[in-house]
Amino acid sequence: MDADFAVDMSNIVRERRLGGDRPADLRRFIHLLKGLVAYTRDESLKVYGVADWSLLRNRDLTQDERDRLHRWRNAGLIEALDKADDRIIELADAGGQRVVCFDKYEDYHRDYPWIPGNRDRFLEPVLGPAGITVRPREMPISPDWRLSRKEEEGLLKSKGLHNGSRPRRELLSRLWVCEVPDCPMFGQDRGEQQPLPRHRSGAARCPSHGQPLTDIGPRPHRIQVKVRVRGRVATRFLIGPGETIHVGRAPGPGGFALTAALGVPEQSGLSRDHASLRWTGAKLFVTDHSRFGTRVRRGVAEPFPLTGGRSLPMRAGDDIILADGVELMLSGREFLFEDSPAAPTPPEVQAAEAARRTYLPEGRPDA
Ligand SMILES: [Zn+2]
Repeated sequence: MDADFAVDMSNIVRERRLGGDRPADLRRFIHLLKGLVAYTRDESLKVYGVADWSLLRNRDLTQDERDRLHRWRNAGLIEALDKADDRIIELADAGGQRVVCFDKYEDYHRDYPWIPGNRDRFLEPVLGPAGITVRPREMPISPDWRLSRKEEEGLLKSKGLHNGSRPRRELLSRLWVCEVPDCPMFGQDRGEQQPLPRHRSGAARCPSHGQPLTDIGPRPHRIQVKVRVRGRVATRFLIGPGETIHVGRAPGPGGFALTAALGVPEQSGLSRDHASLRWTGAKLFVTDHSRFGTRVRRGVAEPFPLTGGRSLPMRAGDDIILADGVELMLSGREFLFEDSPAAPTPPEVQAAEAARRTYLPEGRPDA
């Protein structure tokens, strides 16, 4: 699974415009997570939090807040670095995460030409009547940058640095281990749940420890499917290469059950074994097994029916309508990697879940 957003935590926690009078307040980050869930209507949202080390030592935070940040960091839920900006842009570039921040990242415009003028990859938190929410922002284009762009590109090409995202994507297609015992991000037991390694001096390196990582083999490219029930993403599941997953009210062993617990209505028209998804590693097929049929929504056209056991190859961004109010969404971003020889699963840090576990159950903001 992969994160949907990369969040510059230091930026958020220190921003007084997000409420509270303290110079630094972890509640701003926690309220932002709730705001992102509301904005995306995605209960299963994943956030990759990146903080400067200085935030974890910040005396403007309470001891409890600092302890919490250290716990998240040690559990591999957030990443702490000397300089978070580099890392956030790296993640957005290779993994396709959207970025939540206040920064303009002007220093990065030359190396990452997709940033200037971008309208859909950056979000800015705002404090509204209902708490913290986010809104899309347009990244500035500096006249200076525009003028020198051609020249810069030539320079970068000659240094072999241009099109920097390619090696980063290749890093995502492998699994890595850090030799530091108990490394939170690249430890032995982390498995496939690992983030993007850094690429420095020709080697894949641990973002926490800076050491070269050991390549332990290819990372299976899994497809992420979101389950949307009555307009809200209730959960998501993964399909590995060569795997077939049946979905429905009671699809049987190995299937993915769409139950009342996910908000699926009793009389939804969903069959017990409604449809199956098969991921070959290169193409995803959906097959209908239902009584009332399945429909596929592609772009703005009217959804087209799939009935009587027919199969159809899916495209990035397709929605599969199983019944009224019960849909499967295929991440467009995941398909970004379709062409790579061994396509990756981008990193994830379940900070939103961490916040739910460690914070929300208490039912009150920490005092
Ligand atoms: Zn490490």
